[in-house]
Amino acid sequence: MSLEITHLGSGSKGNATLLRTEESNVLIDCGFSLKQTEKRLSRIGMKGDEIDSIIVTHNHGDHSNSAKRASIKWDSVLYSNIETSIKMGWEPMEICRTFNNLDRVECGVDLSFIAVPIPHDNADNVAIITNSGKNEKAAFITDLGQSTLELKKHLAGCKHISIEANYDQKKLMNSSYPESLKRRIAGRGGHLSNYQTGELLSEVVHSKLKSLVLCHLSEKNNAPHIAESEVLYHIEEKFCGNIAISKQIGPEFTHFLGAEEIKKIRN
Ligand SMILES: [Zn+2]
Ligand SMILES: [Zn+2]
Repeated sequence: MSLEITHLGSGSKGNATLLRTEESNVLIDCGFSLKQTEKRLSRIGMKGDEIDSIIVTHNHGDHSNSAKRASIKWDSVLYSNIETSIKMGWEPMEICRTFNNLDRVECGVDLSFIAVPIPHDNADNVAIITNSGKNEKAAFITDLGQSTLELKKHLAGCKHISIEANYDQKKLMNSSYPESLKRRIAGRGGHLSNYQTGELLSEVVHSKLKSLVLCHLSEKNNAPHIAESEVLYHIEEKFCGNIAISKQIGPEFTHFLGAEEIKKIRN
């Protein structure tokens, strides 16, 4: 059984990641417009109504934008934790199937996940750790100001990790952003810098980690080559897999869980 991972795009203008197994198609976040999401799915030969479930990590628009509309139009099950469903105005149990953080949830015939709470602004954000059978684990983590012990525990044994590398510390500090915004981004409830992502990964990288995708890069305060080199600097002695960057425009590639090969997508 394999898990195919395709980032439809990632950044402050929208996030969505498609997971495909033999019997399940699941979206993590649905932060683009409905039209844009369907257009991106069509580039890999998928239709919206093939999506079984949509998991929303938190209430911010770049993760939740068209989730409810998509779930109604495609007849897919919408999942979030209770706090996010309340913030979104989704009636728990009617529009949205709510889950408790750290409980295992079956979101497809052959795919389950655990939501791990992570600190981010006033949101009740979660990292998603999926399991596609035989303990084939993959992690999807964006929008957090710092790591937690619980998160690190769940990252152990993951064969794929998608994680944000939001900003370069120097670029952020030299940017024209107001001081208060700089503090918010760099604070406990903000985002991870390239350095912080590298540090976190250096604690959890193991020989079975085959693929790593850096995502949610700031367009103003980061650049793909800076993020990649900073992260690799922290992990290169232990990491022997493949590293890629998911940009705002996608989809660009598909990973197969556990495999080093990447399939490029022609747009
Ligand atoms: Zn975000
Ligand atoms: Zn957010």
